[in-house]
Amino acid sequence: MPIQVDVQPDATTGESRRQLVDRFGRVHTNLRLNVTDRCNIRCFYCMPVENVRFRPHHEILTFEEIERFVRVVADLGITKLRLTGGEPLVRQHIDQLIARLVQVPGIDDVALTTNGILLGEQAQSLKDAGLTRLNISLDTLSEATFERISRRKGLQRVLDGIAAAQDAGFEKIRLNAIAIRNLTETEIVPLARFAMDRGLELRFIEFMPLDADGHWDHEQVLTGAEIRSMLEREFGPLAAAPRANASQPAVDFEYRDGRGRVGFINPVSEPFCGDCDRLRLTAEGQVRNCLFSIEEWDARALLRGGADDEQLAQLVRDSVGAKRAGHGIDNDDFVRPQRAMYQIGG
Ligand code: SAM
Ligand code: SF4
Repeated sequence: MPIQVDVQPDATTGESRRQLVDRFGRVHTNLRLNVTDRCNIRCFYCMPVENVRFRPHHEILTFEEIERFVRVVADLGITKLRLTGGEPLVRQHIDQLIARLVQVPGIDDVALTTNGILLGEQAQSLKDAGLTRLNISLDTLSEATFERISRRKGLQRVLDGIAAAQDAGFEKIRLNAIAIRNLTETEIVPLARFAMDRGLELRFIEFMPLDADGHWDHEQVLTGAEIRSMLEREFGPLAAAPRANASQPAVDFEYRDGRGRVGFINPVSEPFCGDCDRLRLTAEGQVRNCLFSIEEWDARALLRGGADDEQLAQLVRDSVGAKRAGHGIDNDDFVRPQRAMYQIGG
C-alpha cells in the first residue's frame, strides 16, 4: 500500500502549524527521547542480567544533534517531549539539555522518566532547568523485592529521591509501577497508600514483551483489571475519572472521599494503539514509530551527513507514514523487536 502522510494546518486551532498525521488519522504530538542506553540498575523486565553492550559514546547523539532534531519535529507539530532511557539521569549534564529543549519554539512540555536513584542529587537542577513533569518508577516498597527486580540495592535512594523532587517544588510527580504476577501482588496496596499519603499520582503498567532476556510470558502479566479489583477490595469502589486527553495511555480512577487518583496503563490486556500520538528517537538517533517497531529510520546519518532540515522532516514523515495500526502482541505473527526497553526508551 502506498504510504500517505498528511502534514496539514491545525484543524482545531486554525493556526498554520503543521501536523504529523498517519494513515489512520492519528496526530503525532509526542516525542520520547532516549538520551542514553546506560543505567545504574538492571531491572529484569528491561535489561540483560550481565554482559550489557552499551553503545560507544561517539554513536550517541550529542545535545546539539538532539536539539536540532527537536526543532525540526516541533515544526512538524510535536509539542511534548519526554526524556527517558536507559536512565536519563546518568547522562552527564542532562539539565543542560532540558534547558535547551524548553526553549525550542512549539515545545510546551518537557517531562522525564527516571528510576529515581540520582534524584536526590539532581532534582533541584532539573527543576531549575525548566523540567515540567517527572515520572518516577517505583514497583515496590520492599528492599528485598527491589533487589529481585533491579538486581541492585537502592530502594532507600529512590525514596529519598522522591522526597527531594517534592522539596524541589515539582508538582506533577507520578509514580509508575510495573505489576508482575507472582512477584508484586503484595506491593499493590502498600504502593497505593504510599502515593495517597504523599499526594502523588500512581499508575500501574502491565509488563510488556520488551525484556532483554526474552523471558516475558503472558502469564506474568498482572492486568490492570486485576489490580483494580485488589484496590477496590481494600479502598472501596473506584470511580472513572474524566480523561485529560484521548491519547493518554492511562485509564484513571478516583478513590472515594477525595483521596486522590490511581491509573492503569494496560498495553497488553487493553491496547490503546488506536489513540497513539507518540514517536521515539533512540539514543543513537534512530526514529521509531512504535515501541514494538521492527523498522527504524536513521536520523543520525542525516544529522551527521550534512542533510538539511527538510530531509530530516521527510524522514520523520516517512516513519509516521509507515506506522502500523497496532502492536499486535497477541497476533500469531507477532515479532518481538530486536531491541529491549532500555535501548528504545519507555
Ligand atoms: N530508567 C528510567 C526508569 O526506569 O524510569 C527510564 C527508562 S525505563 C525503560 C521507562 C519505563 O519503562 C519505566 O517506568 C519502566 O518501569 C518501564 N518498563 C521497562 N521495561 C518494561 C517492560 N518490559 N514492560 C513495561 N514497562 C517497562
Ligand atoms: Fe534501568 Fe529503567 Fe530499565 Fe530499570 S527500567 S533497567 S531503571 S532503564
